[in-house]
Amino acid sequence: MISQNPFRIVNNPRHTPARRESNLMHEFGHLLLRHKIVRFDPNTGLPLRRQTDEDEATYLAGCFQIPRRGLLWAVQRQMTQMEIAVHFNASEEMVQFRSNVTGVKIR
Ligand SMILES: [Zn+2]
Repeated sequence: MISQNPFRIVNNPRHTPARRESNLMHEFGHLLLRHKIVRFDPNTGLPLRRQTDEDEATYLAGCFQIPRRGLLWAVQRQMTQMEIAVHFNASEEMVQFRSNVTGVKIR
């Protein structure tokens, strides 16, 4: 979750470290891409943005968490999906997602 004035990102301590890092990268993505908050959900208080902005932030977050070059490095070292996930503090789903979008095949 993020608020812009003052600038804050709130992490859920019950999420896994990999999920918290992913969320942080997602919010950094919104910041760097200068996405505006459209409005706040009256039920949850969470900021709402355009879906295209969410998709862009999600894609950029993956790039930050596991850069393509990092994925190539891991494959060259013959790391498994789980080893890559641990190395980059990411979920195995994120490793698979990055493999899919970069075309870098993992074993
Ligand atoms: Zn978002």
